[in-house]
Amino acid sequence: MEATGSRKATVSCAFCGKLNRVDLARAAQKPVCGQCRRPIALDRPVRVSDADFDRVVADSQVPVLVDFYADWCGPCKMMAPVLDQVAHDRVGSVLVAKLDTDASQATARRFKIASIPTLIVFRGGREVARELGAIPRPRLEAMLNAALG
Ligand SMILES: [Zn+2]
Repeated sequence: MEATGSRKATVSCAFCGKLNRVDLARAAQKPVCGQCRRPIALDRPVRVSDADFDRVVADSQVPVLVDFYADWCGPCKMMAPVLDQVAHDRVGSVLVAKLDTDASQATARRFKIASIPTLIVFRGGREVARELGAIPRPRLEAMLNAALG
């Protein structure tokens, strides 16, 4: 279904939390939040939480890569710049999201997150790939290519 060219997703505004329906194919045109009018950056990871996880993952017309992390986790910090780069380089074809497992424990429990970071790719709302621990970028790219293919 991603092949139709429609690349819409629902993401929360980093400033006010309002969920916005955005067109990832138009990320370069710098969409703004419908509520607070501040910019919605689509070329960096978006935040998801217990409150909006299901909606964001189910609504996305492109695969969603979710980083289950915690602020105190060293390997998560190593992974962060890699995820920033992937979000930037694959804008429009992959939505990169981050879930703080301390703040959103219900979602972390539901997906049986036993170690962090855990990286899960969702497609059409369903888990299609999972990697545990900090992984090098080539392995992450391979995981995404398999999920996109
Ligand atoms: Zn806003």
